[in-house]
Amino acid sequence: MNAPQRPYRAYSPRPVRAEERDGVEILFGGLHWRAERLIQAMFENLGYRARPLPTATRDDLLLGRELADIGQCCPTSFTTGNLAQFLGAEAKRIGADKVAEKYVYLTAGACGACRFGQYHQSYELALRNLGLDAFRLFLMEQTKLDQGAFAGGGIEIGMPLTLGAVWAVLCADAVQGLEYRTRPYEVIKGETDRVVRESIEELAEVFRRRPRRGKRSASLLWHLATPYFVRALRNVLRKFEAIEVDKLQPKPLVKITGEFYLQTVEGDPNYNIHRWLEAEGAEVCPAPIVVWLDYLFRVHIQQLEDYVGIDRMARFKLARARLLQKALGWTYNRMRAALGDIPHEIPDQYELRRLAAPHFHHRLSGGEGDMLVGKALWAHRHNKAHMICELSPYACMPNTMSVGAMAGVIGKHPDLLYAPLEIKGDAEVHALSRCQMILTEAKKRAKGEFDAALAQARLTLDVARMRRDARPAMRKASYRVASAGRVGTAANLVAALA
Ligand code: SF4
Repeated sequence: MNAPQRPYRAYSPRPVRAEERDGVEILFGGLHWRAERLIQAMFENLGYRARPLPTATRDDLLLGRELADIGQCCPTSFTTGNLAQFLGAEAKRIGADKVAEKYVYLTAGACGACRFGQYHQSYELALRNLGLDAFRLFLMEQTKLDQGAFAGGGIEIGMPLTLGAVWAVLCADAVQGLEYRTRPYEVIKGETDRVVRESIEELAEVFRRRPRRGKRSASLLWHLATPYFVRALRNVLRKFEAIEVDKLQPKPLVKITGEFYLQTVEGDPNYNIHRWLEAEGAEVCPAPIVVWLDYLFRVHIQQLEDYVGIDRMARFKLARARLLQKALGWTYNRMRAALGDIPHEIPDQYELRRLAAPHFHHRLSGGEGDMLVGKALWAHRHNKAHMICELSPYACMPNTMSVGAMAGVIGKHPDLLYAPLEIKGDAEVHALSRCQMILTEAKKRAKGEFDAALAQARLTLDVARMRRDARPAMRKASYRVASAGRVGTAANLVAALA
């Protein structure tokens, strides 16, 4: 017998009314914990109740596969299962009807060339399979600063919210950058984690107390001009100053790239790769979220360029988008400066495009587009990493293309150490052992580079240590090791000592 046919209907959640606002809690997730904590505080600043979902686990992956499409890419399964796990547990505790009234889920949406355009359909299917059809999901557009209110008027994605979220991400990225340049060298284990937790709590308070300055352009101007966030980050640097470090240890610098979700989260979804690499003796260069925001501007600008000569307003829109992109980079650099310029700088998007061009067309959208190839070449050319660790999700079409293109890149640059790890949630040993093979070579390079730096400076390690100890600032996490054209922190420090 044929199954009854139902016409396609686009998902449309029940409205959240303004009077419901106090009783509804907004759930969100998919970033690293620092950014999520600051975004939560930003919501509270605007009078919302909000809560990040716990970091996804392997059980979430299995549940996501069970409740939605089993062939979907693993980030979709992780995030779907993560939401379903939380709501399922809450439904057992307070009942499905209460869950549908008490919580809503807010997530970024797109009409991408990949699964990213269909995440909400996976969520909807999973929730239907859980008997939570009445639960409300809301999609935020990634590229609009002011999206107005959702149906019912209870949640409004206006400029103060969007700008607060962007500034929260920038601050969290900058702190994460400082943290990852410190922890591998800390003398007392656990100090960096403690200071980061304290710092993020203090920053959360800063976001909770953020002054309200207008709704549209006034809000944008205030965020760009205010020293409010920079001052708070300077306090963070002062806290880091108390951490004693020993940066005369040659460690391979490993740059994390890959699909947005996998490179951003820290936990089961990427086999805890950040912590694993540090435990294996590496310094990790994490993937800041701001690079993704910068890329969105670049894609938007590329589209606007097509309309010059066709649309009368195209030049104006182009100039405005370029200005906003510059403002984003400038603001992030301002935050880096508040942290002593220690967090890594972000690559120039147009250089990434140029570097990737012979291997990957910039119009191929979906996932990170040409950025994976561009970032690998950028890091290699500018001595930004000994090794690239690319996190490629299982069943991800754009990432498969990037990995294919990288075969051509490696052919031309055989000295580029590149570890593409297929992440599917249940093949950890395989992925980590593959990474370890490349890491062994990266360690050799870091050690060789360090020895060469000592030889060039005519120093022994003991003398280098004595010189370093004679300058107490160099033993503080707030000391910036300036680049002397070498990749590793220790080799660059030797150059400074020489
Ligand atoms: S980029 Fe890949 S992993 Fe990410 S949503 Fe698209 S298909 Fe899935």
